[in-house]
Amino acid sequence: MAADTMTTPRSLRPLSGKVAVITGSTSGIGLGIARALAGAGAHVVLNGFGAPEDIERMRSDIAAEFGVRTGYAAADMMQPAAIEQMINDTLHEFDRIDVLVNNAGIQHVAPLEEFPVDKWNAIVAINLSSAFHTMRLALPSMRRNGFGRIINIASAHGLVASPFKSAYVAAKHGIIGLTKVAALEAAEIGITCNAICPGYVYTSLVEAQIDGQAKAHGISRDQVIRDVLLAQQPNKRFATVEEIGALAVFLASDAAASITGVALPVDGGWTAH
Ligand code: NAD
Repeated sequence: MAADTMTTPRSLRPLSGKVAVITGSTSGIGLGIARALAGAGAHVVLNGFGAPEDIERMRSDIAAEFGVRTGYAAADMMQPAAIEQMINDTLHEFDRIDVLVNNAGIQHVAPLEEFPVDKWNAIVAINLSSAFHTMRLALPSMRRNGFGRIINIASAHGLVASPFKSAYVAAKHGIIGLTKVAALEAAEIGITCNAICPGYVYTSLVEAQIDGQAKAHGISRDQVIRDVLLAQQPNKRFATVEEIGALAVFLASDAAASITGVALPVDGGWTAH
C-alpha cells in the first residue's frame, strides 16, 4: 500500500517533496539508493539500461510502495547531449533537482598494456565525465533553491588501487577530486557534495567478476568470493545496497548539512589497512 504522506511523521520521511535523480538506477546500488530515497519521501528519476517492461515495473513499484512520483530517463551516460536532455526533462517535469546521485558505472579488468582503449574511454566517460555533466547542469537549479545534495558513488578504488583496474581506479580517484572541487565551490550556498566509497557490494557488476576470476585462478566461486574479492575486506562480507541507500538518505538529509567534500568508505575496513 502507498505510504500515507499526510500522516507519516516528517522524521520518517525526511526527504518529503524533494526530487532526486539517480544515474544507473535500474539495478544494484543505484536501484537500492533510489528505493531508499523514495522510502524517505523523495520523488525519484531513474536512469539506466534494461528491458522497457522491467524498468516500467521498477518505476511503478517504487511509486506504489512509497507514494512518491517517479520518472525515468533513458540517457546513455557516455553521451553529454543525452545527459543534458535528462536534466532538462527532469526540470521540466519536476521543476527542481534537490538530490543528484552519480552512480552509473562499469568495470573492465585487464593489464595496463593490454587494456582496450575503447574500454578505457567508456569507463572514464561513464564513471567520471558523466558526473561532471550532471553536476554542471543540475547546479543552477540547486543554486536557485539554496539547497542541493550531490552524492557521487566512488569506490574503495577511489582511495586505493588494485592491479588490472587502471581505468576504474583512475576514474574513481578522479571523481573524489571532482567531489572536493564541487564541495568547495558550493559550500556557501546550501549545497553539499560527498563521495561514498563502497568496498565490495553484491550486485551484477560483482557477479560478472566471480566466474571470470574462478576461471582465471582455477578455483571455486566460494574461494573467489573469500580469497580474491573479499581478500582485502576485513569483515569478509559484502556490503548491501540497503546499507549504501541508508547512507545516501543521511547525506541527503538536513542532518548532514555540514558534511561536504568527504570520501566516506563503506568497505568493512578495507582502506584501514
Ligand atoms: P550494476 O551493474 O548493478 O549497475 C550499474 C547501473 O549503471 C545499471 O543500472 C546500468 O544500467 C547503469 N549503466 C551502465 N552503463 C550506463 C550508461 N552508459 N548510461 C546509463 N546507465 C548506465 O553495478 P553496481 O555494482 O550497482 O555499481 C553501481 C556503482 O557503484 C558503480 O559506479 C560502481 O563503480 C560502484 N561500486 C560498486 C561496487 C560493488 O561492489 N558493486 C563497489 C564500489 C563501487
